[in-house]
Amino acid sequence: APAAADQFLGHPKGLYVCFLTEMWERFAFYGMKALLLLYLTKHHLFSDTDGYLLLGTYAGLAYALPLLGGLLADRYLGMRKAVVFGGMLLVLGQLGMAYTGHAATGVQGAGVPDASAVQVMYFSLALIGVGVGFLKPNISTIVGRLYPDNDPRRDSGFTIFYMGINVGAFMSSLIVAYVGEKIGWGYGFALAGVMMALGLVQFVVGRRHLQGRAEPADPALLRAPVFAGLSREALIYAGGLLLTVVVWQVLQTRINFGPLSSLVGGHEVTLTELVAVVLGLGLYAWFIRLLFSGISRAEKGRMVMLMVLITVSALFWGLYEQTYGPWVAMADRAMDRTTFGIEWTAGQTTAIGALAVIAMSPLFAWLWPRLDKRGLNPSYPAKFAWGLVFCGLAFGVLAFAAANPGPDMLVSLWWMILAYFVLVLGEMVLSPVGLAAVTALSIPRAVGLMMGAWFLFSAFGEIIAGRLGTWAAIPPYATREYALAVYSGVFTQMMWIGLVAGALLFLATPLLKRLTRG
Ligand code: GLN
Repeated sequence: APAAADQFLGHPKGLYVCFLTEMWERFAFYGMKALLLLYLTKHHLFSDTDGYLLLGTYAGLAYALPLLGGLLADRYLGMRKAVVFGGMLLVLGQLGMAYTGHAATGVQGAGVPDASAVQVMYFSLALIGVGVGFLKPNISTIVGRLYPDNDPRRDSGFTIFYMGINVGAFMSSLIVAYVGEKIGWGYGFALAGVMMALGLVQFVVGRRHLQGRAEPADPALLRAPVFAGLSREALIYAGGLLLTVVVWQVLQTRINFGPLSSLVGGHEVTLTELVAVVLGLGLYAWFIRLLFSGISRAEKGRMVMLMVLITVSALFWGLYEQTYGPWVAMADRAMDRTTFGIEWTAGQTTAIGALAVIAMSPLFAWLWPRLDKRGLNPSYPAKFAWGLVFCGLAFGVLAFAAANPGPDMLVSLWWMILAYFVLVLGEMVLSPVGLAAVTALSIPRAVGLMMGAWFLFSAFGEIIAGRLGTWAAIPPYATREYALAVYSGVFTQMMWIGLVAGALLFLATPLLKRLTRG
């Protein structure tokens, strides 16, 4: 058991070190995400369509790369070194964005970045994506390792940690978005980088509280020279940089199918979309092989249910992540953002989502055990179906608001606040529940991979979100009336996607439950 002296408020001190590291990492990530679409489109540097696609591509890569970062840390690097390396890439990436933002505007509003500044931007986004890949899965794993097996505090430890994610997201949406939009893009991005750097310093200073649980599995193996006198550790870092160069190119590569382009609706497809489809098919193939690898009937049933849930989650995130795309665009272009006498910026509206998570997490932590006691706790698929339904309803709220604007064709911010709270009801019954479902339903030897698959499907969700977002693209200088008509129509379609998918999953629920019986 850990030394009693290294505890604080009933939890290992290491939890707070991880909490703060992940809080500042998410601060940087979500601050940048709140600004990215606005930054790309406000100077007509990017069309709406290209902006939504890059947002989806970049965020998709940032959720897919943790699969690799987790694997490398497990096998060789250990979690602590992976976090430090990832954190350094993140700081560099944010500072690169700061340079780009400054090159774009100098003083807000003047001019567009030249081609080389745009390349710095793509490279910076790649640094951030690879940095998240090394940092995010591993900081979460450290949290799990701070508690002995069967320690009842583990769940509340993760609840506190998830809170850190959303406190970071909340603060940065308010601060980074404000600074970026009002003072200058570059200053907003730079602030994200500086706070990430402070978070990293805090992690390095606090590392002794990790009780040596985040060290490499085999330090000698890591130090041994393998190639040209370089150690495995040095090669992994070099590989990370090489990967950044690859991602830098992948981010900006589109594929034109030429005469076959009608197969993809006449669109150019991003390389990331193509890679996602190949990875997805590969994962299903691996999964089907696993089902026929001599596991019991009951295990098979649970795994099938888990795979259905993971698949559904991609659709959920595909809708949910519209918040950083068309929702921000609508807030920017057609919303009266003044409440309590303060005029919020468009990027700042993304803070509402994180605030709703912070407000509702304790409620759900309270609710589940109580429903359970009365035998009313819904099954996993039923919870996911509710997730889709709430998500659909949130789009319904916003579609209605866009169809019924107030004076000057402006929608009241209160509609968006309502929509966010309904949307986050969906998040609460799906996202933390999904993490629990992975650990509860998977056969033990595949938990790590299934957890990776969970985040991989978040990545697919981001990529789907980018493509769905293009439905809401409007030309530059469109009138508010035109924009609102587009948003209302698209949000209505998204409402139906959520509601119909939710209804289908409700119908399939008895079947899925029967699969897992026995
Ligand atoms: N909001 C959570 C985070 O940033 C989970 C997001 C997801 O799984 N797509 O960590």
